Amino acid sequence: MSDKVRVAVFGSSAGFPTKARTNTSIGIWRGRDLHLFDAGEPVAWHLARREVAPDQVRSVFITHMHADHSGGLPMLIQWLQLNRRTRPLPLHLPGVAVEPFRRVLEMHYLFDDILGFELDLRPVRGGQVYEAPGLSVMARETRHLDVHADRMERAGKESRNHAFSFIVTIGGKRIFLSGDLGQPSEVIAPASGVDLAVVEMAHFTPEELGEALAHTEAPRVVLTHLIHTLEPVEDEVPARVKAAGYTGEVRLARDGDEFEV
Ligand SMILES: [Zn+2]
Repeated sequence: MSDKVRVAVFGSSAGFPTKARTNTSIGIWRGRDLHLFDAGEPVAWHLARREVAPDQVRSVFITHMHADHSGGLPMLIQWLQLNRRTRPLPLHLPGVAVEPFRRVLEMHYLFDDILGFELDLRPVRGGQVYEAPGLSVMARETRHLDVHADRMERAGKESRNHAFSFIVTIGGKRIFLSGDLGQPSEVIAPASGVDLAVVEMAHFTPEELGEALAHTEAPRVVLTHLIHTLEPVEDEVPARVKAAGYTGEVRLARDGDEFEV
């Protein structure tokens, strides 16, 4: 089996599923090993229909807990349990979400001692570097959830450690996964020096993103997390990004698309 690195966009919608797109989940394959980034519903079905064996999922990372990014997690864990996973699973969640998520699992009767595998919940905090053989993941806070800063304060939650981008180094390749952003300029620093940038297309216009990407040296961009209002004109989106000044390759992902890195 080749050790090539491939990015698989399982789900490419933003906010909610549409007729053509399911919620956000992205797989990074290296050979037969799969690392999942976000687990929007129906992520377990995407894995089942590709005949992914449960032990092939090596790690899971969640950018933030909005339901379109995390809503498939309980089903993913139940799927792993019922399909008799045995390998421990590192599941990385925003730091603030780890303890509440333990209660969510209990609510779903997914108790530790019936899983059949060790579910290793790990808090993600900005700047954290995850290291495993052949894989390094750096998390970078984004401003996507700043809009809730006051509400989070009133709820007694710290306002940090809620939303992240990831920079993934795997098999000698470097991939930027934007997660959800607060503003397009947040791509500039992390997308410089990567082989591929996978960027959300929901919280700014294609032109605003193209202007920001023009300040990076990323040679290739895959757009995903497409806001529903752009779907009717989606074929025009890559050209609009490029017309705003970005000179690299731009592709717009649809559910099921794979990109070799
Ligand atoms: Zn979000």
